Amino acid sequence: MNLVLLGPPGAGKGTQAIRISKHLGIPHISTGDMFRRATAAKTEMGEKASQYMNRGELVPDEIVIGVVNERLQEGDCASGFLLDGFPRTIAQAEALEKALARGNKKLDQVLDIEVGEEELVRRLTGRRTCRSCGKIYHLVFDPPKAPTTCDVCSGDLVQREDDGEETVRNRLRVYQEQTYKLIDYYRKRDLLSVIDGKQEVETVFTDIEELLRV
Ligand code: ADP
Ligand code: ADP
Ligand code: ZN
Repeated sequence: MNLVLLGPPGAGKGTQAIRISKHLGIPHISTGDMFRRATAAKTEMGEKASQYMNRGELVPDEIVIGVVNERLQEGDCASGFLLDGFPRTIAQAEALEKALARGNKKLDQVLDIEVGEEELVRRLTGRRTCRSCGKIYHLVFDPPKAPTTCDVCSGDLVQREDDGEETVRNRLRVYQEQTYKLIDYYRKRDLLSVIDGKQEVETVFTDIEELLRV
């Protein structure tokens, strides 16, 4: 299955992506994670991307499209993939369509996780991530046993630089202005399934399992 996970920052895309990827046996491709890894490794692309990310703005289309096209050529994508956080603009969606068509492929489904704005702010400002294994926590909704230590690997839990309230508000504005239109784009192509992301994590996942056209 070739899938896209759509939804505003904080909707739970990363949280659900781990479950979906395991359930279907397809790779989880998060452009945000790819940029954060490149930033940590101090590559040229990472340094460039982090300037935009820290302001809560989108990384320019030409950079993102190049990175994703390369990733989709890797062998593990042959039997399907789950894109998380890509596409985020119409130009990215069109580039994806073209890249897939070149390989005689197409998207099977787009899962749109919907959550209201104030809940998104609460989720993002309380998010903590393990620096070592990447596990996602929330200080209130999914708290670790100790506030700064990962339950799984004892790694440090950190707050993402772009999860401060001011940057979060900007990211939500950017979503409304540039990404929200993708809902209509994919609805017109009959690919869209909408999921109520306000429910508990496991309930959201059950809904996704039921909606998957497998
Ligand atoms: P996204 O990838 O869409 O930005 P995440 O999966 O990182 O979202 O989730 C954002 C924050 O909200 C995290 O702290 C996560 O633990 C929490 N979270 C995710 N899903 C839920 C849920 N259904 N209910 C409450 N909190 C959630
Ligand atoms: P979230 O879903 O919580 O907003 P991500 O990890 O998906 O977080 O993205 C973090 C940041 O990485 C974004 O705010 C943006 O700066 C950059 N980014 C990720 N994916 C894209 C994309 N497809 N296009 C442009 N910028 C992106
Ligand atoms: Zn960990």
